[in-house]
Amino acid sequence: MQLETLRDLFIHELKDLYSAEKQLVKALPKVAKAATNPDLKKGVQAHLEQTKEHVTRLETILESLGSTTRGPKCKAMEGLVEEGASLIEDEPDKEVLDAGLICGSQKIEHYEIAGYGTVRTFAELLGEEEAMELLQQTLDEEKATDEKLTELAMSAINIAANGGEDGEQDSDPGPPGSKNKQPSPSKNGKAKVAPKKK
Ligand code: FE
Ligand code: FE
Repeated sequence: MQLETLRDLFIHELKDLYSAEKQLVKALPKVAKAATNPDLKKGVQAHLEQTKEHVTRLETILESLGSTTRGPKCKAMEGLVEEGASLIEDEPDKEVLDAGLICGSQKIEHYEIAGYGTVRTFAELLGEEEAMELLQQTLDEEKATDEKLTELAMSAINIAANGGEDGEQDSDPGPPGSKNKQPSPSKNGKAKVAPKKK
């Protein structure tokens, strides 16, 4: 596709996001399955449902612009998904796995936020109001997801991965100096980020 106008670039970027979202619909069930923290698992499942809606919105928009959804595979998302898959394959301790899955998920959300922020602005410039509204909805959902992931990481999962209160040590403490002898966060001045018990 020749990119001559902003409208061409708009359609090109919408197709890139479409490819990215389609890849996520396939990848997120694997992330949900791998996640061990129940809140993380639930959050990923909820975002999978939103992601399916993101796909539908892009179909609606591209159709309204007289375009198909067909385009090149989003290589960036392919790479991000591959990084997540290799983390799962490495089989780290479950708390570390959860922290890594959040890290990968946030990289994905930030990629989407950048993409949707741009196409939303293009839609506004091009006077495509309906597209702009749909893209804004998706952008808001991606941002909310990113914030929820930060909250989950900071309130519990990173602390657990660091051997903190929420972390069940699933092996014996090991000899002095082994990796299981990490100080718990509550003892090294980071108690203020300890998880809130509901
Ligand atoms: Fe999305
Ligand atoms: Fe997303």
